[in-house]
Amino acid sequence: MAGTVPALPESFAPSPNSVFSDQFGFYSLDSNVPGLSKVILENLHMKDYSEYRAALEGKGKVEFHSHKEMFQKMEETFKFCACCSKLPNSLSDPHTLKRCIKCLNVYYCSKDCQMKDWRVHRKFCKNLRMVAIDRLVEWTVHTGDLPFPTAVWSRPAKDVRSWGDWLSMQGDLTARLEPVLSGKSMTDLWTNACRPRPEEAELRESVWRVCSEFLSRPLTIGLGVRMCRLDPCSRPLTVHLVGAGHNETLGARTTDLDELSHMFPGHQGVEVVMVGPEVVQGPIVRPPLRAFGPRGKVYISAYKGLYHEFWEELVERGEAARPDLVVGFHPGFHASQGLGEGWLPTLLLLRDYNIPSVFTMYSDMELQYSLQILQELEADIQATGPNPFSSQKPEQVQSCPNKDPCYCNAFYLYFRGLLDSTEDAH
Ligand SMILES: [Zn+2]
Ligand SMILES: [Zn+2]
Repeated sequence: MAGTVPALPESFAPSPNSVFSDQFGFYSLDSNVPGLSKVILENLHMKDYSEYRAALEGKGKVEFHSHKEMFQKMEETFKFCACCSKLPNSLSDPHTLKRCIKCLNVYYCSKDCQMKDWRVHRKFCKNLRMVAIDRLVEWTVHTGDLPFPTAVWSRPAKDVRSWGDWLSMQGDLTARLEPVLSGKSMTDLWTNACRPRPEEAELRESVWRVCSEFLSRPLTIGLGVRMCRLDPCSRPLTVHLVGAGHNETLGARTTDLDELSHMFPGHQGVEVVMVGPEVVQGPIVRPPLRAFGPRGKVYISAYKGLYHEFWEELVERGEAARPDLVVGFHPGFHASQGLGEGWLPTLLLLRDYNIPSVFTMYSDMELQYSLQILQELEADIQATGPNPFSSQKPEQVQSCPNKDPCYCNAFYLYFRGLLDSTEDAH
């Protein structure tokens, strides 16, 4: 597949965070559908995982000849029998793989498999339809059509307790959604996607869900600010986003967290430093501030490396401000021992320096495991529960579609310092 047509600009590459990986990591795909990771790599014209990793690092590009090809390749990675897990290459005729006509998201190798699976799939079919539409609509975030413009909050942040409250301050969204729905990117998307354009009402809902995921990040940071009783209007704040990976940094723009300025009108400046070994190159990769951010603005910078290294290299030497708050989206330290060990120096540092720290999780199960780890570290857990500003966009485990979907930032935990055991000692 030699590239005769020039490669598309980088911004048109698909987002691997939402499409090509699931929360359990790249290779765990294979435990559900043996060979699926290879299919994904082949569709990206890559030999192995190291090339995939390198592409995320900005070395080597994912090249597609057209948007049609890009969406087709994306769809290929969902083509396996949802019942028996067979991939097309293990069928005598790969074309016998048929899609569920309702969700257009899962495939079957035979009528038998489809009938056998229906008892389970019917519970998830409707949701999987939304998942598939959202997965495509998310592309309009990368083209810059989303998020739609939002209004400055008319009520104090403490009185905005849910998405319903947030929406009630936004007024009629129709005029702001219209340009997105009728825009060139949206038309381009449905001309090239492997499914027909949904009805307008369905599409409008999807646009909202995709936006909610985008906004969930600044709103969760804002929730952290409030939980820690910080007042951004009385002094400038520094927030460190730990473990920021390609999810937060691929295609990131310096304006991505501007909702924080809408949330705290008149604030003295909020500086956010994204830190993580998987930080992707882009406009946000610039030096952090030594002291205060510009008044009324959110200043984002990023550092590629582990948090305790960042701390030693820049914070200890006074080249980056100390954080008032640390936030981590889906750190995954519960998921494997290796990941847990990688996080250990960071968690101990946060605990020992008594830094207010907020982490989010995809599910209650993840939350419980994470709490257990922090309890073992004797961290003082201050609050925990469902995040009122959880993403509204359902996500499937790619290789295992017939399961309850998960949502970004669905749960949170907040800890600060070491558990005080002096009372127990008496
Ligand atoms: Zn089958
Ligand atoms: Zn279905």
